[in-house]
Amino acid sequence: MASYKKLLCIGLALDPIHVGSGGARLGRVELTIVRDPVTRIPKIPGSSLAGVYRTYVAMAEHVQNSNRQVNGQSWPYYPHCAGLGQPKGEHYLGHCAQPDCPVCTVFGFARGKDQAGGFAGLAAFTDAHVLLFPVPTRQGPRWVTCPEALRLVGLEVQGVDQDAVYFGSSQNTPLNLGWLLLPVMSFGQFQNIVQSLQSCGVPSYIYERLAIVPDGLFPHIVNSNLEVRTSVAINPATGAAEEQALFSYEALPRGTVLAWEIIAKNPKHFRIEGKEICARVNGNKIDDPAKVLEVTKKAHPYLEHLGIGGMGTRGMGRLRVLYPPPAPENSVPEKVKCRDSATSTTDSPSGLSESSTGLPEE
Ligand SMILES: [Zn+2]
Repeated sequence: MASYKKLLCIGLALDPIHVGSGGARLGRVELTIVRDPVTRIPKIPGSSLAGVYRTYVAMAEHVQNSNRQVNGQSWPYYPHCAGLGQPKGEHYLGHCAQPDCPVCTVFGFARGKDQAGGFAGLAAFTDAHVLLFPVPTRQGPRWVTCPEALRLVGLEVQGVDQDAVYFGSSQNTPLNLGWLLLPVMSFGQFQNIVQSLQSCGVPSYIYERLAIVPDGLFPHIVNSNLEVRTSVAINPATGAAEEQALFSYEALPRGTVLAWEIIAKNPKHFRIEGKEICARVNGNKIDDPAKVLEVTKKAHPYLEHLGIGGMGTRGMGRLRVLYPPPAPENSVPEKVKCRDSATSTTDSPSGLSESSTGLPEE
């Protein structure tokens, strides 16, 4: 059995997504989002993904078993096994740290019994990177990508090196991507890329409007086409705008397609307080990396309805997981659905699948 297993996830931003950097930079925007330090392309850090996955899995477990007891004490999965895990007062007892808790074993816990050491958790998350980025052009929106971004889904693309936009066929008139006017060139591998994206569950209205640019141009195109909003605080006494309370914030625009990976370790290699991990998912003991991934997938319907990142009260954050396609047992319970939305339709994946390593079991 493999020591670990990786799951590629592809998500579509149904709203703008703002994962704040917690700082400001000199420029036009006060509340900036997290960027890759090398490429300057915005991303969602793996730590943010791990936090929301944990919360949503705890919610899903709570819906299935709302009367959970630990050592004769009421210890609900949500909020106790979500969050930071340090006990606060008598109402929040922190992570349960039990070997039969699917939340604490998969996502780790801060401390064991009697403040003993914690556990790092069986699932790890990479940062979510931009795979396809929507840009206005005079021919309507185009979803832009580059060879470096396509590597996220295992595609090696060669020959995209001119300062141009690459389509399946060339055209004589140049095309604007935002403010940038570029010549249009044809590209032989274009159809293969389209097919791979189709097998990742990317909808046709996106892959039919694909555009490829060189790695060097991609960060400029992304950063000059982010959504920037301006808000102002309202004085409750007067109902008018508060003096000096205007602020602006940026976000990945609706329609951005992101890719990330979840890496699951083999539960058989770990012990909690000397005990084997005996948590269950969908009735089965979590005894291999694939079942760890099953636990994490329970968060996917919640990501689509409750979202990720900040500004959730301003219509931001919902992320629909396109790949892997949703399993029927992971559908979100009625009482959690906060907004009406159509179920996503995904094509059956062909090119991409959960990959496991050939490493032998220890
Ligand atoms: Zn727990």
